[in-house]
Amino acid sequence: MRPISYSRAGAVADAVAAVAADPTSDFLAGGTTEVDLLRQNVLLPRRLVDINDLPLAQIEDRPDGGLYIGALARMSEVAQAPSVRERFPMVAEALELGASAQLRHMASMGGNMMQRVRCGYFRDAASPCNKRDPGSGCAALDGFNRGHAVLGVSEHCIATHPSDVAVPLMALDARIHTEGPHGRRVYAIDDFFLLPGATPHLEHPLEHGELVVGIEVPGTPTARTSRYLKVRDRESYEFALASVAAAVTLHNGVLADVRLALGGVATKPWRARHAEDVLRGAPAGTETFRQAARAELAAARTRPLNAFKTELAQRTMVRILETLTGTGTDAAPGTDPAPGREGRP
Ligand SMILES: Cc1cc2nc3c(=O)[nH]c(=O)nc-3n(C[C@H](O)[C@H](O)[C@H](O)COP(=O)(O)OP(=O)(O)OC[C@H]3O[C@@H](n4cnc5c(N)ncnc54)[C@H](O)[C@@H]3O)c2cc1C
Repeated sequence: MRPISYSRAGAVADAVAAVAADPTSDFLAGGTTEVDLLRQNVLLPRRLVDINDLPLAQIEDRPDGGLYIGALARMSEVAQAPSVRERFPMVAEALELGASAQLRHMASMGGNMMQRVRCGYFRDAASPCNKRDPGSGCAALDGFNRGHAVLGVSEHCIATHPSDVAVPLMALDARIHTEGPHGRRVYAIDDFFLLPGATPHLEHPLEHGELVVGIEVPGTPTARTSRYLKVRDRESYEFALASVAAAVTLHNGVLADVRLALGGVATKPWRARHAEDVLRGAPAGTETFRQAARAELAAARTRPLNAFKTELAQRTMVRILETLTGTGTDAAPGTDPAPGREGRP
């Protein structure tokens, strides 16, 4: 048995000071990742600092039409917020398609940004894993890697980033606000998630004791016409094999603005900038969408078991773009009204 001390922080500064002072300590929010990994001997903290009393659960409108979401707002609260459903439907959809209702009531937005990968070798303390034990190797490279990443991979790690909501947040250029031992910082979301490279154990640029306090989502009119499409082995309670968050503005059949990000196929929430470059200013249509999807997946590095993801990701991109622009002939999943848009054209 490993003894673990537990304390509840009453103020942000106290939480930061408590964790920063002890390299063997972790923050505890909803516990839906942390407690699982403790039980599996993957995380071995000697001290847990519970942050649930901190005043970080707000969901606030910003003057630019954006939002500020406190790190302790629960996934279910954010998914239900009228401002999120109305102005950022892909964020609400991504949240509602994640985990289960019970988990979404417990899980916090800050914890979601900090959740750990679902790679079976990372979660098996007996397997080599460069992320858990730097330098030990990566059992996934030649192991069971059907769910693993094809974009942003390295020879040291191919674990897929698991978060759904981080995908639309990536498409929206969200910013992550933190409070740490050296004060307040704001990270562009693309900088907040690190590629594995040769240091897969470093997933974020945060220092020990740096607390995520909130997520800022800039106002973006394009986000009103947005969707999140998640493809997985079963319809609920499952992580994505491929997912796409997409937002578009159409003017006379031309894509005036487009934002696109991928989940389930990359080592971090993946902004599909190559595809966006093909799409912006182009006429909406299946052939354009296919070309954009091919451009994004050209960099895919596959293994025999996960090679199908290259095609799956492309098809998912094409389908969501067809749905959003009303150009597809396919009326399969993803064509139901987005949250907050029921009954609208
Ligand atoms: C069975 C199951 C299915 C799931 N399915 C999905 C899914 O389909 N899609 C999806 O996106 N997610 C899914 N999840 C993951 C779930 O969303 C995360 O576990 C959850 O969001 C983590 O939030 P939490 O508040 O419980 O964090 P915790 O478990 O409390 O913390 C997670 C990690 O983040 C750190 N941390 C927590 N808060 C902060 C903070 N504010 N600042 C700095 N560090 C912090 C903790 O120290 C810990 O290391 C699933 C989880 C489970 C168990």
